[in-house]
Amino acid sequence: MNKIEGKVALVTGGSRGIGAAVAVRLARQGADVVLTYENDEDSAASVVGRVEAAGRRGLAVRTDSADVDAVTGVVERTVEEFGGIDVLVNNAAVFHFAPLEELGPEEFDRTVAVNVRAPFVAARAAVPHMRGGGRIISIGSNMAERAAFPGFSLYAMSKTALVGLTKGLARELGPRGITVNLVHPGPTDTAANPADGPMADVIRSFTALGHYATADDIAATVSHLAGPDSRYTTGAVINVDGGFAA
Ligand code: NDP
Repeated sequence: MNKIEGKVALVTGGSRGIGAAVAVRLARQGADVVLTYENDEDSAASVVGRVEAAGRRGLAVRTDSADVDAVTGVVERTVEEFGGIDVLVNNAAVFHFAPLEELGPEEFDRTVAVNVRAPFVAARAAVPHMRGGGRIISIGSNMAERAAFPGFSLYAMSKTALVGLTKGLARELGPRGITVNLVHPGPTDTAANPADGPMADVIRSFTALGHYATADDIAATVSHLAGPDSRYTTGAVINVDGGFAA
């Protein structure tokens, strides 16, 4: 069920963490997968290996999401080399966690460039090539709904911006058969937020379930949104946060 056999997916920040889990899940559902990364070439290559082990084509492209031309370029390369693009997953993000006094225009600009402008630019480049049933799925954050700790101002701002982008694009692209949705993960065990990190016990105490998600818990919802079973879901913001926002 919910197969996406023969579809082409682009996953930004697919070399590690949630993005890697999404790339592998989509491949196991039948999609060919292009993934981007910023630095970690070895991890990116290993995810491509897992995509290929699932019997699908994989490609990793080093792409700084802050670079507009690079983001547009990886969408175009996906279309040229894979014959189209059906699923865009905007996952790559930066995380400047600091008090207001230590955050400046540079951190603001980089946060907006990677976390907000790149999803916009990628969607803009992908939409003309999306065949019927196109999917745009962005990864937000539990911090968009509940900025539970000091130091998250820029990050929370950027993830909240994705709510508006998602709803606006859903409304605009619905008539073209393209759905646009946003997934808000809660605390998820990745290098960015390890379940054994110094703040982990406090963070998990904010969830209803009392534990971290695995990256695959988030990927499960993304893969549902990528497939035909989600065809009537658009403009939705879906919390996969263990009850963090409950
Ligand atoms: P990780 O740090 O584990 O992985 C981040 C991925 O994004 C890597 O593949 C990294 O590439 C890539 N990346 C980072 N910056 C850029 C950039 N400028 N251009 C291209 N790629 C980039 O993060 P997570 O898996 O934890 O987070 C994934 C998403 O989930 C993010 O949107 C994050 O905000 C969101 N999220 C995560 C939560 C968590 O608790 N982990 C909670 C809520 C939301 P490279 O390997 O080269 O560094």
